Amino acid sequence: MQHSQPSRVHVTDVVLRDGHQSLIATRLRTEDMLPICAKLDAIGYHSLEVWGGATFDACVRFLKEDPWVRLRELKEALPNTPLQMLVRGQNLLGYRHYADDVVERFIAKSADNGIDIFRVFDALNDLRNLETAMRAVKASGKHAQGTLCYTVSPVHTLDMFVDQARQLVDMGADSIAIKDMAGLLTPYATGELVATLTEAVNVPVHLHAHATSGLSALCHLKAVEAGCRHIDTCISAFAGGTSHPSTESMVAAYADTDYDTGLDLEALKEIGDYFREVRKKYAAFESEFTREDVSVQINQVPGGMMSNLANQLREQNALSQIREVFNEIPRVRADLGYPPLVTPTSQIVGTQAVMNVLTGERYKAITNEVKRYLQGGYGKPPAEVDESVRRRAIGNAPVEEGRPADRLSPEMQRLSADIGELADGEEDVLTFAMFPELGREFLQQRRDGTLSPEPLPSMPESSSRPVTEGTPTEFIIDVHGESYEVQITGVGSSKGGKRQVYLTLDGMPEEVVFEAKDAYVGGAVSGRAQATAAGHVTTSMPGNIVDVLVSVGDSVKAGQAVLITEAMKMETEVQARVNGTVQAIHVAKGDRVTPGEVLVEIEEA
Ligand code: MN
Repeated sequence: MQHSQPSRVHVTDVVLRDGHQSLIATRLRTEDMLPICAKLDAIGYHSLEVWGGATFDACVRFLKEDPWVRLRELKEALPNTPLQMLVRGQNLLGYRHYADDVVERFIAKSADNGIDIFRVFDALNDLRNLETAMRAVKASGKHAQGTLCYTVSPVHTLDMFVDQARQLVDMGADSIAIKDMAGLLTPYATGELVATLTEAVNVPVHLHAHATSGLSALCHLKAVEAGCRHIDTCISAFAGGTSHPSTESMVAAYADTDYDTGLDLEALKEIGDYFREVRKKYAAFESEFTREDVSVQINQVPGGMMSNLANQLREQNALSQIREVFNEIPRVRADLGYPPLVTPTSQIVGTQAVMNVLTGERYKAITNEVKRYLQGGYGKPPAEVDESVRRRAIGNAPVEEGRPADRLSPEMQRLSADIGELADGEEDVLTFAMFPELGREFLQQRRDGTLSPEPLPSMPESSSRPVTEGTPTEFIIDVHGESYEVQITGVGSSKGGKRQVYLTLDGMPEEVVFEAKDAYVGGAVSGRAQATAAGHVTTSMPGNIVDVLVSVGDSVKAGQAVLITEAMKMETEVQARVNGTVQAIHVAKGDRVTPGEVLVEIEEA
């Protein structure tokens, strides 16, 4: 009956996706979701966000659950509530651009398995990266929600957001979401943005505002007063901090007004009580970095990102440089044309900022990801990038102006052939597409009956693991509720006490040189020698050799790709660091390698 009220506020609860992603590192298991589904289904939510974001990754990586099975079980347990997912445009739920056929099949299978509403975004708001996914959602007959990643910069004006919202509607968007992943919105900015957008487009405007800075409930209020009728909230047990305002509080806030959500507070309380008990089980994944912190409003750097960086730099005896890193992040972001900081741009900017400080010279070392970004590999940055930084990164190499996926040939057939009989259906091929190595391992273990979820530790996890000889130093960073694995390993000393250190961020290899003692020595676990010279080509992460691009006797240039490795999520070129001649090759296609090993020897010219 409440549905007939035009002013009613509609609520999407994110407890089954963003809530636990933001607060307990995406670890909520299906077994803890299903028992409460009947009650969730009876509430009358506009939708429940249940899938996408980091949940797919966490299922395969940590929980050893088949994410597709989770989706089907949730669909069956929630027959009356539309199910919603978050999808990173052309990146889907992985970390690279996929060819259009993969995007089309992924969306189609997600719809088949139970998703009704697709929230589609691109980290750069390059709408070309949304086109294929949006079209696929429409083709499946489901609800396509176009997303504006909110950020603050000289170019992110109301006009820009309005223009993008209109383009999304032209693309077929059934609604528009404002996605404030960092907690940058303030109440009055929200009111102005929502009023302008609702005036400009004739589809509903949704607000997804993280509570990080403590302002999101106020933002919701101003949004609703300005015409927004769809808000994202999280049941109280998983609300607040880097999550979202509590469902119960927002329902109470609008009760007995024209905006009344029509939701039953008593029924919501039971759900909150259930999840409060469940959350205790995941105490080990709680983090001090998910607490409310207004610092993002002060320096544009999310609080969690700052605290985590501080923790890491402390371990590297570089804590005194943390302030410099925080000051450097907005500068790098400006150099890169003001990308919103969200996966994967948050890692790209954050890592480069760390390197700019630790190397003692801005852009002395430039990550492969920044190079790719400056070549147009992610799409078009919101503003012009700094031309001198671009030249330094890629020289006179041409900048790709087109849609990144236009350079990709269809992939489904190759992926299907690669994974072969380990895939029981197209869903499995898509799991493999998202996470090549991890997905294969998952499917193999499922076949062998050896899947074993990570244990639920009884003690809170330290944010870092102790340095163990023979393994990389590993730790986890949480940024905007998504966890990234960082691995550090050093290879032998070179001159002046400077040590070549390799840092891998979620499978993206980064290289950095800085003063370091002996803390980060990667050990040999194969018969290969440890790298000690500049001509020793090594890798920064454990992985497999996909291809060897040179032969003994070849002359190579610094920066030239000599190997291709695959680790966790992506294929990566390993480059020569010096000009010279290939003296020896210690790997072949298919070999397993670990960081620090000499893979190719180059005699310096
Ligand atoms: Mn979110």
